[in-house]
Amino acid sequence: RPRALSGIQPTAGSFHLGNYLGAIRQYVALQETHDAFYMVVDLHAITVPQDPAELRANTRLAAAQLLAAGLDPERCTLFIQSHVPEHAQLGWVMNCLTGFGEASRMTQFKDKSAKQGADRATVGLFTYPVLQVADILLYQADAVPVGEDQRQHIELTRDLAERFNTRFGDTFTIPAPHIVKEVAKIYDLQDPAIKMSKSASTPKGLINLLDEPKTTAKKVKSAVTDTDTVIRFDPVDKPGVSNLLTIYSTLTGKAIADLEKEYEGRMYGALKTDLAEVMVEFVTPFRTRTQEYLDDPGTLDSILAKGAAKARAVAAETLATTFDRMGFLPAK
Ligand code: ATP
Ligand code: MG
Repeated sequence: RPRALSGIQPTAGSFHLGNYLGAIRQYVALQETHDAFYMVVDLHAITVPQDPAELRANTRLAAAQLLAAGLDPERCTLFIQSHVPEHAQLGWVMNCLTGFGEASRMTQFKDKSAKQGADRATVGLFTYPVLQVADILLYQADAVPVGEDQRQHIELTRDLAERFNTRFGDTFTIPAPHIVKEVAKIYDLQDPAIKMSKSASTPKGLINLLDEPKTTAKKVKSAVTDTDTVIRFDPVDKPGVSNLLTIYSTLTGKAIADLEKEYEGRMYGALKTDLAEVMVEFVTPFRTRTQEYLDDPGTLDSILAKGAAKARAVAAETLATTFDRMGFLPAK
């Protein structure tokens, strides 16, 4: 089986609809076809300031949400990044293969550091894409399910893998991004020009999966559309409505063309009311399942311990080969 690998940050507590549609749904699907590794990337979370108690709670919460979304510990390996120390170790190696200018071109870093100001942005934030390279290469991943915002980082991963392989001999699998075009970028409901994001969205534009269902319904109903009234998929001229149609279509499995027909001659309000209902039906059981995992910490811990052991076996082998190829003297 080909390998899949992906990670998600525990920074904000609740996952949002963009995380789910753009990434987590694909994690669930790839369990069937791939030897899949998924992790909560707590090492990435500390690239911005974190409160220790919150980070601990959010890391458990992230794992609980991944299970609630359909990850099955029998069919994939679910673990916490910091439980596998090889990530930081290979991360250092990759830092030493990355050009400073090359890292400076990462648009996620540019966006995130611009928001924080040059003095507050950390060196960790600057090199986080390189840690991500290590995350992927450690597992010899073939496919990396992510949203569109991560494409550049997968490109960097391919470049560094090829660079290492050329310099030190064939070591790493060259991964490919697994990006589902239709849902690769879910937009903020209040500002359809920006992506829905844990760190950058306005509260009203961000659909948190763990919000009260009533709040979710309210946010959908007050989504920004446009002044014309036609319900038509047109991401350029009607980004707000198109975003709602994408979400509706993905959650229900109805084709966008069929939705356009269904809502022909009807008002935006009708679409929003129906979508609010679809969303509430989706998040309600998700919230319940997440709570069930949180209420059973023994089960959650044992899933994560088994996951870390499986992940570590693979990661340690890759790291040992890498160190050897680079010329590190083995410890006797
Ligand atoms: P941050 O703003 O702090 O970077 P985030 O909202 O981007 O947080 P991440 O944990 O960085 O969340 O991303 C987890 C996964 O979700 C990644 O694969 C990312 O590409 C995907 N993703 C994030 N936002 C969206 C979105 N709006 N549409 C589709 N996929 C998304
Ligand atoms: Mg992100």
